[in-house]
Amino acid sequence: MSFQPPKGTDDLIMPRSQAWRDALGLWEEWSARYGYSLIQTPTFEATDLFERGVGDTSEVVTKQMYTFEDNGGRSVTLRPEGTAGVVRAYLDSGMQGAFKGAYSGPFFRYERPQAGRRRQFYQVGIEYLGVPGPLADAEVIECGKSYLTELGITELEVRINSVGDGCCRPAYYKALRGFLNQRKADLTSDSVRLIEVNPLRVLDSKADGPKLDDAPKTTDYLCDNCEVHYSGVKQALGDLDVAYSEDPKLVRGLDYYTQTAFEYVGTGLDTAQNALGGGGRYDGLAEVLGGRSTPGVGFALGLDRIMLALGDPEKTHLDAYLVSEVGPEQGLQAANQLRKDGLRIDLDLEGRSVKAQFRTARRLGAPVVLVFRGDGYLVDVQTDEERAEVPLQEVSVWFSKS
Ligand code: AMP
Repeated sequence: MSFQPPKGTDDLIMPRSQAWRDALGLWEEWSARYGYSLIQTPTFEATDLFERGVGDTSEVVTKQMYTFEDNGGRSVTLRPEGTAGVVRAYLDSGMQGAFKGAYSGPFFRYERPQAGRRRQFYQVGIEYLGVPGPLADAEVIECGKSYLTELGITELEVRINSVGDGCCRPAYYKALRGFLNQRKADLTSDSVRLIEVNPLRVLDSKADGPKLDDAPKTTDYLCDNCEVHYSGVKQALGDLDVAYSEDPKLVRGLDYYTQTAFEYVGTGLDTAQNALGGGGRYDGLAEVLGGRSTPGVGFALGLDRIMLALGDPEKTHLDAYLVSEVGPEQGLQAANQLRKDGLRIDLDLEGRSVKAQFRTARRLGAPVVLVFRGDGYLVDVQTDEERAEVPLQEVSVWFSKS
């Protein structure tokens, strides 16, 4: 049989996996720093959740969902995105008021696979529920931006827009439909069909969006309430020193977004896959799911694309490999001591020759080799540049200094 993973999916294995582990570790720390608790929801949900919550005219729902009937005859779907599940869980919990949840995990969309566009991909995200004001939007946008910056992504742009809400959208839709009807001849049949159903999606379509630079702008049609909210977001972003540009064509592909929409763009990447993440406000979602009205704002970042932006780094998962000259039993005891001191250590437990142990250290990419001699518990520390004799209990100090 073939050992390849299914089309559009990937095995994540060393030496690439350590950069992912670092990114996920930083994510746990970063989201906690902003006051987000961990939330985990099921990897599959009732199909209806996404049909309602993502929108049954969206490309994600009509073309990309992994939907199947389980053995009990229920239609279930592998989650294509995270927000609908989090809002469902919040409503189910009976919780009232503000809730901040951070998640990470695999998501599934039947896409035409290419670099940065996978059928199983990995997202980290946050959802901030229960708070309607623009400060929440700004805090969320800043959180994602600073996480990406902290990870080491330098070619990064934040783009924002306001798509209005149920109050101002009818006037905008009218203008947009008028514009699109005049341009029908240039559009794909999918887009023509969407003009009546959901014209905003035509702007967001991969095939036609780029041709429609002169379309009416959502921001020219905002009602007073949305205008004030949008100004508030921009003011707060300025106060938080978040540089951004306004992109009137940024409408996002999902039905439940109101007011703020934003995207983190990796400007060093190919334009087809340069969205590292995106998000927005979705004040209509909880009601669409049949719950009480609950405002919300959040984002999701795609780790597959973040890694492309970082240059797919290969990193070692070890601080050092311990080569034991006195057999694996004593070696294991020494390694255990070093692990208690906080170092990431591996060693051979099969009693192989010193030469073979050195080979393994090299194969694993260990940046430091510790040669354990037993007598007096001295360790010979070897790197490409340096060699030193250090007592076992001082090895971690040596690491913190070097
Ligand atoms: P979306 O829910 O479409 O706004 O996606 C948010 C982020 O997830 C995107 O900006 C991408 O970084 C990532 N993403 C979405 N779909 C895929 C995919 N098929 N493959 C890889 N990453 C994806």
